[in-house]
Amino acid sequence: MAKILVVDDVEDNVKLLGFTLEDDGHDIIGAGDGVECLQKARQHHPDLILLDVMMPVLGGVDTLQHLKGDPELKSIPVIMLSAKDGDDWIVKSLDIGAHDYIAKPFVYPILSARIRSALRLRESQSKLAEANANLSRLASQDPLTEAYNRRHFFEISIAEFVKARRFNRPLAVIMLDIDHFKSINDTFGHSSGDRALVELTRQCRAIGRQSDIFGRIGGEEFALCCPDTDCEGARFIAERLRKAVEELVITSQDCTIKFTISLGVSDMNDGDADFSYLLKRADQLLYKAKHKGRNCTVAG
Ligand code: GH3
Ligand code: MG
Ligand code: MG
Repeated sequence: MAKILVVDDVEDNVKLLGFTLEDDGHDIIGAGDGVECLQKARQHHPDLILLDVMMPVLGGVDTLQHLKGDPELKSIPVIMLSAKDGDDWIVKSLDIGAHDYIAKPFVYPILSARIRSALRLRESQSKLAEANANLSRLASQDPLTEAYNRRHFFEISIAEFVKARRFNRPLAVIMLDIDHFKSINDTFGHSSGDRALVELTRQCRAIGRQSDIFGRIGGEEFALCCPDTDCEGARFIAERLRKAVEELVITSQDCTIKFTISLGVSDMNDGDADFSYLLKRADQLLYKAKHKGRNCTVAG
């Protein structure tokens, strides 16, 4: 049911409680002191820790402080178990972040109910964290290609522009657009067009560096913002991309699709007041590439 770390310096206490919890279907890890508790918590990532208060070397309250101060461990609920049931200990433990405090000797059905309550909290916290991660992904990604959406692309690229200016580093932008994409949709259907967009994104990710920022700017228009890259470097990447796309063969619903892209490349210069100047120049060069006959790169 759950992975529970039982910490007590009396080995028999760990064994006895461990057997009872195992009968309830839990997996048990035992630890004999605070140091071992921290080490096993890092190693096993338990769902819950049952922590004795009175232990030699590193006592329960100090161990709790370490657990709650560690970003990796702080979300694990901790139930303190102690023969010390003075108000001060209870208040101190709860203030540090213990989920609960149970006096020894405990009545097992009550401990068991409190364990269930802690596990319910753990479960709803991890669902909330997952939902938040999904929301932030949805807010920053284009759902079809999973490239950054326009808003997020601008947000990060603007930050890179400011950084590049401040540290006097180069910054380049590649704008790219699929050639005659409308005819791909018209000939093979919209879902095949979608496949082409997904494959194009995959190529751009494979060819760009991890630090490059790749975004879907419009329908079949994408941009790659390349930190620490000058115009010549970006033109080289753009040409690699263009050739990779030219060689790409997509099979979709029993047909093979081939397409090309046109690219405009520019890097930051002293006259660029903000990121939009650089992007606009790359966009104008992309349209030059279209007028030159498509399937080519124009840099400047
Ligand atoms: P050009 O070479 O001048 O760029 O020609 P084009 O046909 O690519 O350009 P145009 O701007 O005329 O057409 C863009 C097409 O992109 C039209 C639109 O239906 C298609 N499109 C935009 N978004 C999507 C999408 O999400 N999925 C699919 N399948 N098609 C899309
Ligand atoms: Mg196009
Ligand atoms: Mg277009």
